[in-house]
Amino acid sequence: MAKRVHNFNPGPATLPLAVLEQARDELVDYRGTGMSILEHSHRGKAYEAVHHETLARLRALLGVPGDYAVLLVQGGAHQQFAMAPMNLLPPGGHAAYVVTGRWGERAIAEARTVGEARLAASTEAGGQYARVARDDEADVDPGAAYLHYTSNETIDGVQYQRVPAAPAGVPLVCDMSSDFLSRPVDVARFGLIYAGAQKNAGPSGVTIVIVKNDLVARARQDLPQVFRYATHAAHDSLYHTAPTFNVYVVCLVLRWLEQKGGLGAIEAESRRKAGAIYEAIDDSPEVFRAPVERESRSRVNVVFRLPTPELEAKFLAGAEAREMVGLRGHRSVGGVRVSLYNALAPESAELLAEYMRAFARSA
Ligand code: PMP
Repeated sequence: MAKRVHNFNPGPATLPLAVLEQARDELVDYRGTGMSILEHSHRGKAYEAVHHETLARLRALLGVPGDYAVLLVQGGAHQQFAMAPMNLLPPGGHAAYVVTGRWGERAIAEARTVGEARLAASTEAGGQYARVARDDEADVDPGAAYLHYTSNETIDGVQYQRVPAAPAGVPLVCDMSSDFLSRPVDVARFGLIYAGAQKNAGPSGVTIVIVKNDLVARARQDLPQVFRYATHAAHDSLYHTAPTFNVYVVCLVLRWLEQKGGLGAIEAESRRKAGAIYEAIDDSPEVFRAPVERESRSRVNVVFRLPTPELEAKFLAGAEAREMVGLRGHRSVGGVRVSLYNALAPESAELLAEYMRAFARSA
């Protein structure tokens, strides 16, 4: 049996063991073709089947309406920080950004290299983010080209539990990287959704983009081909060489998600896992402190702090000794961060909660 730790990494992150095993079993001879899926042409039958199955599964799982394109692109969410404004922000126009954490900061900064991006709201206070923005505090011009927000701030542990309102006619653009596929989504409320795969959907190296056709049609056409959504949409994301192995693993993850009962079942499990950790935090307020306001607490990245850096180090070392890894907070904020993506077994979350209780008793 391979050694497997309790992997709380924030991304790249844990993948379902069944997916890794299938990838391993098929690695050298992909389904009797005499070559690995790594060696197949992206224009060949074997890979094309994987590619189209992946697109179809994403559509089915998320209930993507027919007037949306589903794209598989490279470049990570960072490339989407740039591509969204490149495509959707016309010369002389402006876009609105609601910033509730460090990734939102990145997104607006990158948009400003392209055009005018206005800060509609920020929940930053004293260098920290502890909540999402209320709709009534977001100052969005009805003439904005779009309104961008981050559904889950992976570093700060701040998550929207609703879809924010946008003025009529202003499309909503969402960086869904870290809570994509962790709960059902009403895609029809969005103009554009993008998500790097490396948290819930598969390995790093492929980014999923879901975009409404009318936005693609209206997007700027004076961009290099590879940066136009229209190019990828027109070619079913096979305009150029696809990240074939990454897409193949995403495909396996999507099958696994379906076997688990789809996004409703996934959300229920995600609530249980996060509930166990928050309960352990709240039951020992003298040892653990969650900096995020209750209604904005992330179910995917639970952040908390201990009273001193020494206790934090002791907590993390103890976790590591119990084969619970990846719990150190982002280097920019410190503390502890518990990433609870879909592939993390509920038993791993329960084990961590037990360890937290034992640690609190002995601290
Ligand atoms: N947005 C969010 C919400 C993220 O969590 C991350 C990565 N952790 C990014 C953007 C950046 O993704 P990438 O490194 O793939 O560009």
